[in-house]
Amino acid sequence: MNAHTGHRTALEVNSIVATVGHTGNPGNTRHDYVPPLNNQTLFRRDAYLCMYCGSRYPSRELSRDHIRPFSQGGMDIWTNVVAACRRCNNQKASRTPEQAKMQLIAVPFTPTYAEYIFLKGRRVLADQMEYLLAHFPRSSPLHDRIQRWLG
Ligand SMILES: [Zn+2]
Repeated sequence: MNAHTGHRTALEVNSIVATVGHTGNPGNTRHDYVPPLNNQTLFRRDAYLCMYCGSRYPSRELSRDHIRPFSQGGMDIWTNVVAACRRCNNQKASRTPEQAKMQLIAVPFTPTYAEYIFLKGRRVLADQMEYLLAHFPRSSPLHDRIQRWLG
């Protein structure tokens, strides 16, 4: 809006914008980027499946399980946490899967920056989605999971 004339100007901006230099997005260029861990993103990473019984649950019925529990030196990091239903989490208690004789159905991984933006995104446009998918590692388990979400 021009303060003098009161004229309004509209700019059409593409949904994907390339920038040069510092963007404030720490993951754009760094390969050692570790996204913040939160339950919403964790449950999406694990496709809302309990990683022990393999059943699908709504977020409110899932919990963050520490594969190696805190009491045994386990840390709160992506590779040590999985989505678990309350029942499995209770059954496992403060034990490792081996100690509890329970088996994980998938290996937990740390999302890359592109994977994290996808997992976090509540409003990802179709062309942005395509862009993010193209930037996932070839080995990303999310390729399969996304097909399952769509199918
Ligand atoms: Zn379960």
